[in-house]
Amino acid sequence: MNTTSTTTAYRICPICEAGCGLKVTLDGTQVVHIRGNHDDRFSEGHLCPKGVALAGLHEDPRRVREPLVRDASGRRVVSWDEAFTKAGRRLADIRSRYGADAVATYIGNPTAHNVGLSMGLGIVAGTLASRNLYSAVSVDQLPKNLAAELMFGNDMAIPVPDILHTDCLLMLGANPAVSNGSLWMVPKFREKVRDLHARGGSLIVVDPRRTETARLADAHLAIRPGTDAWLLMALINRLSERGLRVPSRYRVRGTDELFRAISAADMHEAAVHCGVRAQVIEDLATRLAEAKHPVIYGRIGTTLQAFGTLTSFLVEVLNLQLGALDTTGGAMFGEQPFTQPRSPLRHELEYGRWRSRVSGRPEVGGQLPVACLVEKIETPGEGQIRALVYFAGNPVLSNPDSERLRKALSSLECIVAVDIFETETAELAHVLLPGTSPFEEGHYEHYLGTYGWKNVARYTPPVLPSNDRPDEWSLCLQLAHGVKTAGQVASAAELAAFEDELVAGLVRRHVDDPESAIHGRDVQEILGKVGPARGVERLLDVGIRSGREGDAFGARDGLTLERMAATPDGIETGSLRSRLAEVVRHTDGQLDLAPPLILTEIHRLRATRPAEGLVLTGRRNIRTNNSWLHGVPGLEKGVELCVVELHEDDARERGIEGGDSVCVFTSTGELVAKVNTGTDLARGVIAFPHGFVRANYNVLAPVDFVDEPSGTSVLNGIAVEVERIAQPA
Ligand code: SF4
Repeated sequence: MNTTSTTTAYRICPICEAGCGLKVTLDGTQVVHIRGNHDDRFSEGHLCPKGVALAGLHEDPRRVREPLVRDASGRRVVSWDEAFTKAGRRLADIRSRYGADAVATYIGNPTAHNVGLSMGLGIVAGTLASRNLYSAVSVDQLPKNLAAELMFGNDMAIPVPDILHTDCLLMLGANPAVSNGSLWMVPKFREKVRDLHARGGSLIVVDPRRTETARLADAHLAIRPGTDAWLLMALINRLSERGLRVPSRYRVRGTDELFRAISAADMHEAAVHCGVRAQVIEDLATRLAEAKHPVIYGRIGTTLQAFGTLTSFLVEVLNLQLGALDTTGGAMFGEQPFTQPRSPLRHELEYGRWRSRVSGRPEVGGQLPVACLVEKIETPGEGQIRALVYFAGNPVLSNPDSERLRKALSSLECIVAVDIFETETAELAHVLLPGTSPFEEGHYEHYLGTYGWKNVARYTPPVLPSNDRPDEWSLCLQLAHGVKTAGQVASAAELAAFEDELVAGLVRRHVDDPESAIHGRDVQEILGKVGPARGVERLLDVGIRSGREGDAFGARDGLTLERMAATPDGIETGSLRSRLAEVVRHTDGQLDLAPPLILTEIHRLRATRPAEGLVLTGRRNIRTNNSWLHGVPGLEKGVELCVVELHEDDARERGIEGGDSVCVFTSTGELVAKVNTGTDLARGVIAFPHGFVRANYNVLAPVDFVDEPSGTSVLNGIAVEVERIAQPA
């Protein structure tokens, strides 16, 4: 007789922006099976090998489950109280000796999909009050944030393609067939392209590599890395010459100034820079002009390059010129149920309010680029970094000139890490506070929820209990308390009071916000209706119920967190809608098309000589996610991922054959790997994946090679040399 009884739980996958709804089959506390949830309103059954590998991640014996400290006597397991005491005491001591800026914070990419951590780390960073705040954003999307800040006065105002209604999607430097979107949550991308084709639409991909997405496209422009701004300017000019200007329904300023600056870029000059014939650009302009609902989307290839901010800005200029911005079938601003009180309109940009004392690079949206981290550790003087608190990141692998950074981090007096693995960075930590496994935490897409291909409300509660370990939200509260009190451990009652204060603060701000569903209501009445369960879920509930779709705490029929938890397939909350006026935060309500920074960048672009010879670009594989998940059981089995890719003609010229070992080197560093040759890459381009330990892409990246306005590291378009070597990779 079979006595096994299994249960099913629901979990939104926290690994990437597909946000797949998963069905998890459990035998007791053992995960026995993971499937895509076909009833999920957002992901519709999508699943990739990484989602299945979550079970392996949960069980992985390498996962850290108890706090660790490292001191003169070595590495040892300690109690939670000892770990919190040590962390709080050391951080408070360094702050008191050198000032608040001596303690830096680094925020890693996994925090974006972890609501407890993404909300909790804000409490810690707020307590530390240091101007040395860094994150993986500056080796990723920061140029898009800065472009949005300049144009809309709102650094999070990044539109997504309305893929359900477009008839011409022009995509630059993105590979959603593998990534499932980035700053765009778009599971089942292949099916969406199939539907686009079925209604007569087209996909055009601009990428130096014939990626998995380019293979689905109607046209592929194999552009030289880092030259997208030239292509966009040529398109804007060509369309302008045909009489296409920014439609009058948009409230904009600076159009003439911008178009005048752009008009100096000649089509043939652009063609030479891009390695794309002028006629191809001309044809593309015609295609866009003739489309009924065109839309432009640019991602990682357009941001990790020397003109990332300019390129990101021009993507939206082209959307505007085509009348595609904030229009059905165009580039739309999504929404999520959790709502923060609306930020006030403002004159000042959140940019350049302070600078790195060493290189003078400006802050962007409150953070300095990670390219400044190493200089601020190495350089003595006021504001020198002496300690680091980091959350779920691995800067030793993911930041430029990573060997130099590793040495610099090793010199710090104190590193406090919140992570679930002993990564290359966590190995350097003096206190390692382990987070929970993805099955031990609830999931709400708090950071990226406004970038969905459709608007859906979803929340899944924890699948398994975390037993006696604190979840990441509580861990952050305890850490913040330790910094404030020089290492005292908060009692359960003190932590509860701390959380009550945060909940009350959020309610108060909503009550004061004229746009909130609970504007003008009685704070105590609202607090009386906030659910009794503790944790980050209480804040989520307040933000959801006070938002556009919320129940306004019983005043109307609407969303609550409880209702979302009871509907794990998700609740559809309406189509993407036009809402540009809500998004723009400049005091005059206009879009600024000619900020001085952008005009300067156009001149800089025109004066810059392109890199000659071979240039490096990144490559993504479905079985990895940045520097995470390496070695998780079952994921990389039998697949060689860490391989250099080279055009066969470039290889032949260098006496290289497929399967050879090669050394790739720059003035900064070198790596050795096997090579694959073929014709998928443009000539003069070499591709390599990032995030690997045995051959780390970032040892090749010079720390001072950045997108000038945002300080974002340039990882696409680095000039490299490659040489066949005898030793095996
Ligand atoms: S595509 Fe894979 S990694 Fe991404 S959310 Fe879905 S299952 Fe997870």
